[in-house]
Amino acid sequence: MKPSEREAEFIAKMEFDQKKKIEEEKHKKLAEKEKTRLQELHFMKCPKCGMGLVEIDYKSIKVDRCSGCEGIWLDYGELYAISKLEKSGLDKLLSIFKK
Ligand SMILES: [Zn+2]
Repeated sequence: MKPSEREAEFIAKMEFDQKKKIEEEKHKKLAEKEKTRLQELHFMKCPKCGMGLVEIDYKSIKVDRCSGCEGIWLDYGELYAISKLEKSGLDKLLSIFKK
C-alpha cells in the first residue's frame, strides 16, 4: 500500500467513526425521549385497565385506586407501611375504599 492510500483509508475510517458516533447519540436521545413519553403517557394510569388512578393519603401512606376497575396500587414501601398499621388503622383505611 502506498502512503497516500493508507492516508485515505485512515481518513475514511475516521469519518465513519465520527458519523457512527453521531448516529449512536441520536439513538440515545430517542431512547430517552421514548422513556419520557411513556412515563407521561402512563403516569397515574391503572396498569390493568388504563383508567385514571385516584390517590388517597392515609397517615402518609398514599394508596392509588383505579377509577375504572377499582384495583388498588401501592408504591415502593407502602405494603410494608400498611402491614405495620394497627388493626383499627387498617380497618379505617379499608373503610375509605368501601362504596
Ligand atoms: Zn383499572
